[in-house]
Amino acid sequence: MNTFKAITISKEDTGSQNVAYRDMMDTDLMDGNVDVRVSHSTINYKDGLVLSGKSAVVRKFPMIAGIDFAGVIERSTHRDFKPGDRVLQNGFGLSETHYGGYSQKVRVNGDWLVKIPEQFSELDAMAIGTAGYTAMLSVLALERHGLRPSEGPVVVTGAAGGVGSIAISILSHLGWHVIASTGRLQESEYLKEIGAAEVIDRKELSAPGRPLGKERWIAGVDSVGSHTLANILAMTKAGGAVTACGLAQGMDLPASVAPFILRGVSLLGIDSVNCPMPRRVDAWNRLAKDLDLAKLHSMTTVIPFDQVVDTAPLILNGEIRGRIVVKIS
Ligand code: NDP
Repeated sequence: MNTFKAITISKEDTGSQNVAYRDMMDTDLMDGNVDVRVSHSTINYKDGLVLSGKSAVVRKFPMIAGIDFAGVIERSTHRDFKPGDRVLQNGFGLSETHYGGYSQKVRVNGDWLVKIPEQFSELDAMAIGTAGYTAMLSVLALERHGLRPSEGPVVVTGAAGGVGSIAISILSHLGWHVIASTGRLQESEYLKEIGAAEVIDRKELSAPGRPLGKERWIAGVDSVGSHTLANILAMTKAGGAVTACGLAQGMDLPASVAPFILRGVSLLGIDSVNCPMPRRVDAWNRLAKDLDLAKLHSMTTVIPFDQVVDTAPLILNGEIRGRIVVKIS
């Protein structure tokens, strides 16, 4: 393929951002030792930020957007990969400093690639995408902390979103009693179908709260931040832990140290972008084992490439349920 389509982000002299579908050539690609024909990408919250220009995610212009992709290798000089291998990539600067996955072809460093577990199609890999892999990193962090379902419930915030939906599905599969916190109570049936045991209104958690509250859960998976994360910490049982990966409510954390010093609660940060390769591979292998594919399919919508620019900003308003996969080529 000499020419291919991609979504490019450029900066005008006025400082405003220009987003366009462009025809590109192989010679336009950045350096890398592996070429991948991209079949699928996905829409994550961060893609919404990039395409709407609301946050300084892109650090080099012009850029090709898309923070993840799945596809088949066309050319490789990397020792671990050969043409025909099915691979995926999350993070490692995609759509920040390196051309991203909203492109029919990518050229990347093979050290950034993960082989798609054989249980998953390329579409499945992107139905999971950065959001689902981050959900798994969160579960692994709770497990490393030594927490088990027998110790009490786990609360999942942003429940009807991408990270939230996949976290619920994995945790329920592992035997956890999952309390799903959502602003969309009309999605309660959906949340129960994917594994929630209880659904609560996110209003219970989103306003300023007390330094310590009644102990309600032993663990939490938060993708919301701000008052919600502060309240979850304040209601975590002694010795418990909460993972923090997101900022859908806000980047602030208006909390007190009370849960940490009076109940020994831990706050575990999750960064999917710079996660070391062994932990990534572990997460994808655990997804292959602990994520119910029927549930994954029930929470996934597939859209064509030409609808990405119109669809991505909706995720910033919390209007997307579960996961959106983009069929690239
Ligand atoms: P989604 O938009 O799919 O999910 C976010 C959910 O948060 C929404 O669906 C909504 O759930 C809830 N929400 C939205 N606005 C608010 C609000 N104002 N107050 C409280 N809750 C709100 O996004 P993703 O799941 O893709 O990502 C979630 C977050 O995690 C983002 O901030 C993203 O940047 C971050 N993230 C971080 C990663 C990392 O490496 N650290 C990797 C992946 C994601 P509901 O309607 O159920 O309330």
